[in-house]
Amino acid sequence: MDDRNAVIKGPYNQRSISARIEAFFLDNLAKVVTREQLIEVATDPKTGRVPENWHQRLSELRTDKGYTILSWRNRGDLRASEYMMPDAEQRSTASRRTRPNAATWNRVLEEHGYRCAWSEGGITCGLRKGDIDPVGGGTVCLTPDHKTPHALHAEIDPKDPTKWQPLCGRHQVMKKNYWDDETGWLNVVAIVQSSSEEQKRQVYDFLNRYFGDIEP
Ligand SMILES: [Zn+2]
Repeated sequence: MDDRNAVIKGPYNQRSISARIEAFFLDNLAKVVTREQLIEVATDPKTGRVPENWHQRLSELRTDKGYTILSWRNRGDLRASEYMMPDAEQRSTASRRTRPNAATWNRVLEEHGYRCAWSEGGITCGLRKGDIDPVGGGTVCLTPDHKTPHALHAEIDPKDPTKWQPLCGRHQVMKKNYWDDETGWLNVVAIVQSSSEEQKRQVYDFLNRYFGDIEP
């Protein structure tokens, strides 16, 4: 049965993007919803402004509120840009994300030159607040990231600037995809997916050797 037609789409007049997306999912439990529908719901009902950061709000519903929101990464029968909240249950282990206090956050920003600190293969992202993200599009907003996943270290110091770094929205999402908040384990598949051709080749060679498909 194709239940895509049965999706309820509001209207949702909640003030925050996150609250509108949450209401939308709760109205459509166990139904397949699409990226387009999510963007429609996330769009400001008053101004008609389409938010750039709806994907980040989705991540927060998972990590902060403990909802299960499945995507093709979790379920083979979902296609890319399809999502599903199977039930309204919120994992009790989900902790509200702790933030550094204002003074600490200012120091963290200062120490990183007010730039995204994401580093990959020796190259730092370096996007600044207000820049246009050349990869993901949209205006960059820097938010605090606890360097080690919060699920592993519930006791973190909001006053210790060495524990934090500024990340742009795209790299916040990327980091969340890298770590499974429930288990604290690395999401190796997501990492390989986002790696370079060269790195994928290395992994491929490694696996070939590992499984003995080719002679070392
Ligand atoms: Zn970045």
